Amino acid sequence: CGIIGIVGKEEVADRLVDGLKRMEYRGYDSAGVCTVRDGSLVRRRAEGKLANLVAELERDPASGTIGIAHTRWATHGAPTASNAHPHATGQVALVHNGIIENFRPLRDELIARGRTLESETDSEVVAHLVSEEIEGGATPEDAVKAVLPKLRGAFALAIAFRDHPDMLIGARLGSPLVVGYGEGETYLGSDALALAPLTQKIAYLEEGDWVVVRRDGAQVYDAQNVPVEREITHSGATA
Ligand code: GLU
Repeated sequence: CGIIGIVGKEEVADRLVDGLKRMEYRGYDSAGVCTVRDGSLVRRRAEGKLANLVAELERDPASGTIGIAHTRWATHGAPTASNAHPHATGQVALVHNGIIENFRPLRDELIARGRTLESETDSEVVAHLVSEEIEGGATPEDAVKAVLPKLRGAFALAIAFRDHPDMLIGARLGSPLVVGYGEGETYLGSDALALAPLTQKIAYLEEGDWVVVRRDGAQVYDAQNVPVEREITHSGATA
């Protein structure tokens, strides 16, 4: 339901949770955060209100200067901690807004190839598909390029990579996603409001776009994987 991602120069966990708070108006049933730190994915999730996630983070902090976070409005699978996003494999962590309509055949194929899925969500299949590509030697960019055409339905995605602590990849089709430009930091968000305390400089992704986000900026590609520029506007959203 709500997505935020930060490729930052300072700690991100608190700022990710702040971004989630700014999207509470959308409604949600669970929430989670994942940072990339010292070659591992550090994930915390909780059922219910953001206060539960905050308590989880107090018990067991997630440090790191890059991360993704999500508030979930369940469509497939009960609103439990194990169905909360981010979904992770050894290699990647992913948050998703929307519905992957063809998740059942994709899930069956993954299971037939010997993979173990941990949730009941439509979203988790995307994490595994990207992970398979990475395990096969693909770069994050090539992995995403290979997987996006397999997905039917509506999605906004933000993906973090265990072995690439300098980048996130976002993608959108049918669900909004924006890129925010900061000073030595770059952001992803499902709306400009979520990013308002971080930056007012926003680019709206268009249908089928995907984007590689790094500390010093972002490169957007269209649905044909052609590098494109999307206009940076002043959001006017107030922090
Ligand atoms: N379909 C996904 C799920 O049920 C994402 C829902 C959302 O947009 O929050 O987990």
